[in-house]
Amino acid sequence: MTNYLPHEEEFPDMVYSLAWLPDVLLGAGLKVAPVDGWEIRGRGDVGRTLGILCHHTAGPKNGNMPSLDTIIHGRPDLNGPLAQLGLGRDGTFYVIAAGRCNHAGEGAWRGINTGNTNFIGIEAENTGLPDDTPWPAIQIDAYQRGVAALLKHAGLGPECCAGHKEYAPNRKTDPTLNMDNFRATVGGILSGTVPQAALIPAAEPPPQPGAAPGRPTLRRGSQGDLVKTVQRALNLSTDGNFGGQTEAAVRNFQRAHNMVPDGIVGPKTWTALDAAGAPPPTGTPAAGTPAAEVSVAGTPVTA
Ligand SMILES: [Zn+2]
Repeated sequence: MTNYLPHEEEFPDMVYSLAWLPDVLLGAGLKVAPVDGWEIRGRGDVGRTLGILCHHTAGPKNGNMPSLDTIIHGRPDLNGPLAQLGLGRDGTFYVIAAGRCNHAGEGAWRGINTGNTNFIGIEAENTGLPDDTPWPAIQIDAYQRGVAALLKHAGLGPECCAGHKEYAPNRKTDPTLNMDNFRATVGGILSGTVPQAALIPAAEPPPQPGAAPGRPTLRRGSQGDLVKTVQRALNLSTDGNFGGQTEAAVRNFQRAHNMVPDGIVGPKTWTALDAAGAPPPTGTPAAGTPAAEVSVAGTPVTA
C-alpha cells in the first residue's frame, strides 16, 4: 500500500469530475459565472452523482452573492469549499468547485448518507430570515431550472433533490423553501409541463424578414469590436474583453434603465445602449436634462 495523501495534495492540478457543471447550466439558458480555479477546486474528487442538496447561505442581506468568498474558502469551523455552486439573487450560478465540498455533513436522503461525496451542493444567497422572503422570482426560477438540468444530466428524477433541512432535519433549517413544491416544479420542468424560460436570443432580430440578424448577444467572456462599442457607451476602457468590470457596468446600466440586471447585452440592452449613447438630434438644444448615460457612467461600480 502506498502512503495516503488527500487528493488535493497528491494531485494539485487535477481537474475534478464535475467539470460538466457550467456547460449543463448554460445549456439550460441560465446565467453562469465560473470562479477562477473552479475546475481544480475540491476536497478531493466526488463520487458518482446520486442527488442534489439545496441550501441557503444565511449570509448578508445586501448584494448579489456576498457569501461567495466564504463558500470558496470556508469558515473558521469548516474548511472550504462549502458547495460546488452558489446561486446569486439575480439567478446567476457561480461555479465554485468541480470536486468534493463540505456542504452536507451528517444526514441521509433516500438512504444515501454520503452527501459530500455523492450530492452536488447549491448554496443560494438568502438570509434565511423573514426579512428575505419571498425570494426573488428570478432566483427561484433559476434554482429550479438549474436543479432540473443537473438531475437530467445525471439521469436522476426530481425525488433525488432534497433540502438540507430534509437531509439533516435535526440540525438544519435551510433552505426556507417548501421542498415538495420545489420538487413538483422541477418535475414539471423535466417532463416539459412547465413552459421553457424565455431565453435571450443569440442576436438581434433581422431588421426586415429575410435579412441577416443584427448584433450578437454579448456576455462575460465575449471579445472583439462590439465589446469595445459596449465599453465605449459605458465609459469604460475599451480593451474588447467582456470581463467582470464590463459585466458590473452593464448591470448598473440595466438597473438604471429598469431592466433585469443580468449583465448580458441582448437585443433589449443593445437598444437601450443605442438610445443612451445616441447624440442629440440636430437642432435640439443640449440645454436642460443631462444625458442619461452621463449619470449612469458616473455611478461607481460596487463589488
Ligand atoms: Zn445547508
